[in-house]
Amino acid sequence: MNISIIAVGSELLLGQIANTNGQYLSKLFNSAGHSVVEHTVIGDNPERLERVINKALENYDAVILTGGLGPTKDDLTKHTVAKVLGRDLVIDQNALDYIEQYFKEQNIVMTPNNRQQALVIEDAHVLENKVGMAPGMLVEQEEKRIALLPGPPKEMKPMAKEALLPYFIDGESTIYSELLRFAGIGESKVETELMDLIDQQTNPTIAPLAGSHEVNVRLTANGETQHVCESLIAPIKAQILERIGNYYYGSDEIVLEQALMNHINKTFAIYDGVTDGILYSRIKDYDVNQLLHGMLSHHTQFINERDIINSQLSVSAQIVKDIFKAEIGISVIHQNDTVYLGILENNKLTMQSFNMTQRRQLMKNRTQNYVLIRLLNWFE
Ligand code: ATP
Ligand code: MG
Repeated sequence: MNISIIAVGSELLLGQIANTNGQYLSKLFNSAGHSVVEHTVIGDNPERLERVINKALENYDAVILTGGLGPTKDDLTKHTVAKVLGRDLVIDQNALDYIEQYFKEQNIVMTPNNRQQALVIEDAHVLENKVGMAPGMLVEQEEKRIALLPGPPKEMKPMAKEALLPYFIDGESTIYSELLRFAGIGESKVETELMDLIDQQTNPTIAPLAGSHEVNVRLTANGETQHVCESLIAPIKAQILERIGNYYYGSDEIVLEQALMNHINKTFAIYDGVTDGILYSRIKDYDVNQLLHGMLSHHTQFINERDIINSQLSVSAQIVKDIFKAEIGISVIHQNDTVYLGILENNKLTMQSFNMTQRRQLMKNRTQNYVLIRLLNWFE
């Protein structure tokens, strides 16, 4: 389904809050195999809201609105939707009982405008609000769907996931996805390498997402069972890894330094001339077997000659290896915009280099994942 998400609330337009509801719903419905094709933010103005809803209903299969379900004057969403659909608002007895009960328990007198919160569009599927008072709704009309969710994220999220999403999942099938994680490669390179696969995608869908100095590719399949989905994903995953597998470090929740530590079974130490010790601290967090013995951090400046780099790498890797009595010495240094990685084991140095930027902060940040993924490949 093509879905349009409309966030209602003048405070969004004023810049007082960010539209995190839109972000959450996009993630939720895209990963269930639908396509979110439009986000709109609109103020608490019934004419403009009506126009936006009409346009979205004309163009897309489903419209999901958040905000404006509360009891106050500016909460206009359901009145506007009812008007667009030519339906009445009726009291939902369950919701009213719940609201009255809530006021009774709190020992507060219920003001008449709170009855408004129990009004729902006639013939809507009422979506239970487990956290707050205003119920949500899903209305079906002429092949189109329109859903109304409350604005506060802590009410909206559980309602969207537990009460609304099941209506968007075909009872006969299930959705399953795997997030492939890559480091040391840019998003545009990933996309270029996978262009033809992305162009032909159907089931599973292939969605590259840029992360912080890493790139993820989400594969989402739709099938009768999870097992069927996994077997739809497997051949596409294999094709992707054949092309950019050198940069792949794992799937779903794993983090890069954790993937690395899963493959190391020797002791090592790091000479760090680039990341100010961040490499050490990231790896240490996942060093359950105490293999990382130590680190020397130094902002290196080297002479402009290639053979000097080689000997600097050797010397610095040897120094940390000896000081910390480790089996492997690792050195990371830079010269201008090139970062060099040396791995010293059994008196043999393996050297790799990669082009960076001379901008200090960017070099420091980007080098971390570039080094981690190369170490992973080396130890694998
Ligand atoms: P209430 O009963 O609280 O009035 P409501 O459904 O009428 O709920 P709004 O009045 O539109 O929702 O918004 C209530 C609060 O929810 C906002 O002040 C804001 O903090 C949060 N909120 C609303 N819309 C969004 C959004 N799109 N993204 C993130 N937060 C939002
Ligand atoms: Mg409100």
